[in-house]
Amino acid sequence: MQVLLVDDSAVYRKLIGDHLRSWGFGVILAETGAEAWRVLEQPKTPKLVLLDWVLPDVEGIELCRSIRAAGLSGQYIYIILLTSKEGRQNMLDALEAGADDYLMKPFDGAELKARLLTGKRILDLQEELVAARESMREAAMRDSLTGLLNHAEIFGMLERELERARRERKPLSVLLGDIDHFKKVNDSHGHLFGDEALREIARRLQSKLRPYDGVGRYGGEEFLLVLPACDLEGAMQRANELRETIANAPVVAGGVERSITMSMGIAVSECIGVKEVEPLVSRADAALYTAKNNGRNRVEYMVASHGEARK
Ligand code: GH3
Ligand code: MG
Ligand code: MG
Repeated sequence: MQVLLVDDSAVYRKLIGDHLRSWGFGVILAETGAEAWRVLEQPKTPKLVLLDWVLPDVEGIELCRSIRAAGLSGQYIYIILLTSKEGRQNMLDALEAGADDYLMKPFDGAELKARLLTGKRILDLQEELVAARESMREAAMRDSLTGLLNHAEIFGMLERELERARRERKPLSVLLGDIDHFKKVNDSHGHLFGDEALREIARRLQSKLRPYDGVGRYGGEEFLLVLPACDLEGAMQRANELRETIANAPVVAGGVERSITMSMGIAVSECIGVKEVEPLVSRADAALYTAKNNGRNRVEYMVASHGEARK
């Protein structure tokens, strides 16, 4: 763990810096409050700060207040204020300004180490909590079987991207894919094979995505894809690639090998001037329905002006 050591005295910087390194900490030095502030503004700033009270440009206690007020780095910064100022009131002022701990100079090495380790323990705990919260947030966005975005999230993405497409006057394509005769797959090979097939198809869809595209599990064996800045021609090509990536190789799981196909419906916001998500998805759904009627394992799109689907 890195420690930012802020002290204007070269003697203290050397003394404390040597201690810190010998205890396994990385050390970043600053001589003034302004220098310390510049370090703390960086994205990967040290989270543990040893701060001298008396600095040439700003009082350490002021810097402490500024750090707390700014909420720098989005993560907690643990501050130990070092000072030669004695007295109970000074200690209370330091804590009130946002210091986590307070140590008198000259200090005992073992005590400084113990206090640094307390700070490290708290920062480690906080990091664990942040990671746990992040993974819970991530899990809540995902479909548990396939790991794709869930219905609400892919819908949310579509809303945001449609708004952006309108602002930037770019097309946006929506693809709705539905596995063909999936009920028969379950009936022939069991639900567990069906689950594995859904996972495999999700993987294949995802492997063909570009970084700014999105794919979600829309419902049971239905998938919704959002392709920003993609016009009808592009969407037809992408949809056929996706369809082929599923149709061209069988799904293999638990000793069973089975060819699976997917039908897809396309709607493009540019073609039909749609401003809202629901009509766009309805059109993709209508095109999908046509793909099913026309024999499955195929792609259709919906042209609004004619109110009909065409290949
Ligand atoms: P079509 O070609 O017309 O789409 O026929 P289909 O059989 O795929 O369509 P249908 O809507 O009749 O059946 C969908 C099936 O998908 C029924 C359902 O049991 C299955 N299914 C939905 N979600 C899951 C799942 O999470 N796991 C498994 N194994 N099967 C699922
Ligand atoms: Mg279905
Ligand atoms: Mg189906």
